[in-house]
Amino acid sequence: MSILHAMEGSCVACGAAYRLEIADSLNVERRPALHAMLLERRLHRATCACGQEAFFERPLTYVDLGRGLIAQVFLPGQQVELDVCEGLVDHMVHHALRRPGLPPIVHHLGAHVRARAVFGLEELREKVLCLEHGLDDFVVEILKLELILSAIKLVDDGLETLRLEAVTPAGWLEFTVLRHPHPRAPLPEHLRPQRLAAPLSAYRDLLARRDDLAREQPALATRPWCSLLRERFNPHNWTDEERRAGGPGRTLP
Ligand SMILES: [Zn+2]
Repeated sequence: MSILHAMEGSCVACGAAYRLEIADSLNVERRPALHAMLLERRLHRATCACGQEAFFERPLTYVDLGRGLIAQVFLPGQQVELDVCEGLVDHMVHHALRRPGLPPIVHHLGAHVRARAVFGLEELREKVLCLEHGLDDFVVEILKLELILSAIKLVDDGLETLRLEAVTPAGWLEFTVLRHPHPRAPLPEHLRPQRLAAPLSAYRDLLARRDDLAREQPALATRPWCSLLRERFNPHNWTDEERRAGGPGRTLP
């Protein structure tokens, strides 16, 4: 079931009223148009007649059992409560698909579904894009790591992670560079790439070693938040300042 409700807002630029549909739950097998809206970045967005855009992050559940994905979208920033968020996803999937007493067909679905926690619609879009192209999202995260290691200077420039933007017809995975707002050693503008790319062959090489890679990165391979940023949000890796603020990206009151 997809649950949508209308929301009314007013434009921050001109004050005009607008309405848009907000989803609490998306079952894209029943509403394929919503799947397209997510990939085209039209979900939870409105454009006012004056041209001003509005975008809303809302928690929602995304279900595509046919292709094997259940994702719970949390708000960006909720990663500091990662254990709670992942516990909710574990509970949701166990209750719906894996608990004892359910019909065998449901257990079959439960054994094959990818259960994911994501933080914000852009992370959801990336997971759905992986599904679209038959990509294993864990292997995609490892590919990002290899790309980052091959361009390590970009880490001093504030590179925090990469986000899959597209898979091109020519067989390249294109990633958007996501940066920290206050880099340690910013590079000159012309040396700051917005995108990095890797060929599908590099992905396939990693896929062939998936079992070994999963043993090296057990949390990334098995926990619902399949993201390189797990390390960033691991309290063991926080700076003193981040610890005082309660996590990365938070500012002291
Ligand atoms: Zn307006």
